[in-house]
Amino acid sequence: MNLIFLGPPGAGKGTLSTLAKDAFSLPHLSTGDLFRAAVKNQTPLGLQVKAIMESGGLVPDELTIGIVQEKLAGAEMKAGYILDGFPRTVAQAEALEKFSKIDRVVNFNLEETELVRRLSGRRVCKGCGATYHVDNLPPKTSGVCDSCGGELYTRKDDMPETIAQRLKEYNAKTQPLIDYYSKKGLMLDLDSAPAPGVILEELKKALKK
Ligand code: AMP
Repeated sequence: MNLIFLGPPGAGKGTLSTLAKDAFSLPHLSTGDLFRAAVKNQTPLGLQVKAIMESGGLVPDELTIGIVQEKLAGAEMKAGYILDGFPRTVAQAEALEKFSKIDRVVNFNLEETELVRRLSGRRVCKGCGATYHVDNLPPKTSGVCDSCGGELYTRKDDMPETIAQRLKEYNAKTQPLIDYYSKKGLMLDLDSAPAPGVILEELKKALKK
């Protein structure tokens, strides 16, 4: 089964991908994670996309499409996958159709005030990458990772002005995909407000898993 997880930044696509990949035994490809790893490792790709990501903009379509096409050609993706954060533009969706067949598009819905609250409260460990939230999932000691004792920080793209830009990009470029996939009869709408475990159960029911 080939699944796309769609939704605004902060709707919990990443968290649900982690749960769903285990529940459905599917590999997970997150373009955001892929770009973040490239930036962290200072690869040529990372150097190219760092400033774009930090400003809340989108990486150019040709570059993103090429990377996803290459990843989906890998042997581990042949039996199905969860695509998280791709496609994000109609041009990416049209390109994807040429090299893969999509079974369902899961759209995670959440109102904008809650998206901002979730993104601005997110903290990430510098050491192991574990994610926390100041209200929803606080560490035992403020600013310190429970797992490895590393320092927690706010991702540059979770700063207020960057959040506003990411939401603007989403509304202008990604939201049209809802209509695009609805017309193809592939869309499955889920409410992202409940706890992740509850959303996973809804997803399993909808996909008859
Ligand atoms: P995410 O973690 O999915 O919110 O992605 C973080 C950032 O990576 C985005 O704000 C974009 O700068 C970039 N990015 C991730 N996926 C894509 C994509 N499909 N197209 C363009 N840029 C992307």
